[in-house]
Amino acid sequence: MNNFTANFEQLIARHTLVGSPLISIVIPVYNEESGLEQLFKRMFPALDAMASQLDVKYEVVFINDGSKDHSAAMLAKQFDARPDVTRVVMFNGNFGQHMAIMAGFSYSNGDYVVTLDADLQNPPEEIINIVKLLLDGYDYVGTIRIDRRDSHFRRYASLMMNQLRNKITKITITDQGCMMRGYDRRIVNLMKKSKEVNTFIPALGYTYASKPIEINVSHEERFAGESKYSFYQLIRLNFDLVTGFSVLPLQAFSLIGILLALASGVLFIYLLIRRFVIGAEVEGVFTLFALNFFLMGVMLFGLGLLGEYVGRIYQQVRKRPRYVVLGVLQQDAEE
Ligand code: UDP
Ligand code: MG
Repeated sequence: MNNFTANFEQLIARHTLVGSPLISIVIPVYNEESGLEQLFKRMFPALDAMASQLDVKYEVVFINDGSKDHSAAMLAKQFDARPDVTRVVMFNGNFGQHMAIMAGFSYSNGDYVVTLDADLQNPPEEIINIVKLLLDGYDYVGTIRIDRRDSHFRRYASLMMNQLRNKITKITITDQGCMMRGYDRRIVNLMKKSKEVNTFIPALGYTYASKPIEINVSHEERFAGESKYSFYQLIRLNFDLVTGFSVLPLQAFSLIGILLALASGVLFIYLLIRRFVIGAEVEGVFTLFALNFFLMGVMLFGLGLLGEYVGRIYQQVRKRPRYVVLGVLQQDAEE
């Protein structure tokens, strides 16, 4: 039997594995003390129901992303209540939602992984729908928020960003913002291997998917607390998305540069001819100013864009740890 067939057989064998598959739920937590209690109250019963209905096992991996409130203590308390199915990874500082999820991948053992936000904007009761599709063999289950409950402005901004992203990256996910998603272990392992400092998990997962699917999930208002993303951070996140998955913006700037150079060449020849036909003229000085400022704007934007890439390269080559784990609450090795 050659290597490929052996691997393939293994793959098939895993999917017809004896015993029930393990589902890991990965949840990043940053200053969520006002909503955590309610999350536990709704999620654990929903997961217990799922476990008996689908004959699967589950584990929940919380990552405390350096919360400054009582979130850490509440997570520890929940760990005491359900140590058999709970693991808590404590970060030594705030490393951001996507790094928290990355750590969650590293500390989860499931055959399938579902990521979820801690703010109850996506109902934990719907995790089961994602898991069903994963068990059916889809390796990436994306989600589309129906009846999205965010401000008009945010919805509109997302819509624009989605369209832009579709054009400049090869990633065609309908709704990039929703984090409640499911991944097969194969994809999770590939994501773990991608040592990117700045990344966007749903897009990264999608690039490795071979059999993706999207489903609708309902979306509720934040149960408690406030969004952890300011307008500025959302812009940064979108830059991560674009720079992380495409160099098209850089190429577009070379094109703009070429076009502008051509246009100014033509303008120069035109002005030269005019000089000889009409003679010296001084009119249009302010038009020139306007044109100049416009071009300076274009140049600065290009430079800034270049900086976005260079800055990320710089972060990447320093090879600092992407996150620092203070400690992990988990049960001793399986007995
Ligand atoms: N989060 C995190 N680290 C951060 C910011 C957010 O772990 O630096 C978590 C947060 O606790 C929540 C999830 O990421 O579980 C999504 O955050 P939020 O609901 O504020 O984002 P939004 O829904 O507004 O996009
Ligand atoms: Mg949210």
